[in-house]
Amino acid sequence: MAEIKNVVIVGGSYAGCSAVLAAKDKLPPGYRIIVIEPRSHFHYTFAFLRASVVPDFERDLFIPYSGLFPEGSPNVLVHAKVSEVTSTHVVLDQSVTDARLSTETTTTIPYAYLIYAAGAKHPSPTEMERISSKEDSVAELKDWQKQIIGAGRIVVVGGGGSGLEIAAEVAERYPRKKVVLVHSRQRYMEAYGEGIHDVIYDILNKFGVHMIFGERVVSSEDVKGGATLVTTTKGTQIEADLVLWCTGLKPQSVPLQSLSPTSVDPKTGFVKVLPTFQIVDSAFPNVFVCGDIADTTDMKLARAAFAQSALVVDNILTLIGVSSSPSSGGAPTLKTRDPLTEPGMWTRGIFMPMGHTGAVAVRLFGRQVAFNSWWWEVVRGKSGENLGADNMWRMLGVELDKTAQ
Ligand SMILES: Cc1cc2nc3c(=O)[nH]c(=O)nc-3n(C[C@H](O)[C@H](O)[C@H](O)COP(=O)(O)OP(=O)(O)OC[C@H]3O[C@@H](n4cnc5c(N)ncnc54)[C@H](O)[C@@H]3O)c2cc1C
Repeated sequence: MAEIKNVVIVGGSYAGCSAVLAAKDKLPPGYRIIVIEPRSHFHYTFAFLRASVVPDFERDLFIPYSGLFPEGSPNVLVHAKVSEVTSTHVVLDQSVTDARLSTETTTTIPYAYLIYAAGAKHPSPTEMERISSKEDSVAELKDWQKQIIGAGRIVVVGGGGSGLEIAAEVAERYPRKKVVLVHSRQRYMEAYGEGIHDVIYDILNKFGVHMIFGERVVSSEDVKGGATLVTTTKGTQIEADLVLWCTGLKPQSVPLQSLSPTSVDPKTGFVKVLPTFQIVDSAFPNVFVCGDIADTTDMKLARAAFAQSALVVDNILTLIGVSSSPSSGGAPTLKTRDPLTEPGMWTRGIFMPMGHTGAVAVRLFGRQVAFNSWWWEVVRGKSGENLGADNMWRMLGVELDKTAQ
């Protein structure tokens, strides 16, 4: 019997799972999907910042993978981390045991096609560090809630999406705490157009957040009484009981570096892709990259990841079709979207929850506009505290049951 060929997906988050959903009913016989993901559950990161402040819905944010592949499916989910990608297989950071793999206990998994969707790392609480069980991850969020309750003075470092969201959540829930937000630029979220800064500024101002612009934090040191002294590039010193680091994202591209060093941008770590979302290395036409880790002009949004992974799956299905009927002749025509010059208009839209209101930026009649979402909250009633996690549960084939989680 011919050996089954693997479409290996590295990373089971938004890009990886949407690739699974796009591919799982379309792969021809003889192929299967293997997802490699170290987290025990899907992490609904959109609501982590709120859940690190507001209690009681933490469990909604960790979704079991059990619905991804129904009983009897040939597809496999492996809980491990890929430490290296070679031209034929991926190397795991630990041995895994599964009777469906070619050798039952193994540290390597061969691939015919690879979708590399390992995303980018953020500091906690934007992303959880404890990932081996739902209980551990929930405990990490609860620990943040306790630390925030216990701190009178909080410095948020970084005025990107994470910093803005957590500053708003803390200041809305605890108006008596002193919240300072240090941002290295002069305006917030400029990639979404000019107007969004003013909307965000007004919301934070209303919550009493002290905003510092054009300064970068250069040091933080422990001082007497358990406090931390934060110092900025301009010499501003702020004493804090708690510092929340919301600084940047770190692409998880190291495992690809030895396979194709030229595909990884040495300065940023993002992976360069062709318009087909294959890596920019003609030696490996079967290696695709999508999601936050791909070096594109798309916003780093799950919506962009969904669109990219759909294109990647279409292209893999085309390549599989050609490889199974080589007599059809000619080079396959793959779908393309120029990753550096064709950002979809939709990728410039955002709804950013800031406490229980939000900043919205959209493109209307060719112009980028921004507004405060308070009216929307009034029209639709109080939005789900979990910021739409229920939809993700459904997408992953499981129903959110608050009593049985
Ligand atoms: C606070 C916040 C709010 C957001 N809100 C929204 C929103 O409302 N709407 C929206 O569209 N986008 C939103 N985003 C952006 C969105 O979260 C990202 O665009 C999305 O997570 C990208 O998905 P990804 O699958 O590419 O990467 P990630 O989500 O980063 O996932 C990467 C996955 O790969 C795994 N992994 C990493 N290294 C390895 C390895 N070596 N081997 C195997 N697996 C590995 C990780 O465990 C992880 O599961 C938000 C982001 C933040 C920070």
